[in-house]
Amino acid sequence: MSAHVHVRLDHGLTMNERSELVELKRCQCGAMWTTIHWAGDGDLE
Ligand SMILES: [Zn+2]
Repeated sequence: MSAHVHVRLDHGLTMNERSELVELKRCQCGAMWTTIHWAGDGDLE
């Protein structure tokens, strides 16, 4: 079987226990990724 290439589909935004904005992405195979965006500090370099 050939290697599966994940496709990261947007799966919405949520807030964790520390009030950080968490971006969820999910592949159709079930793999998930989370990216934390710090709330209240928009400075990105
Ligand atoms: Zn996948």
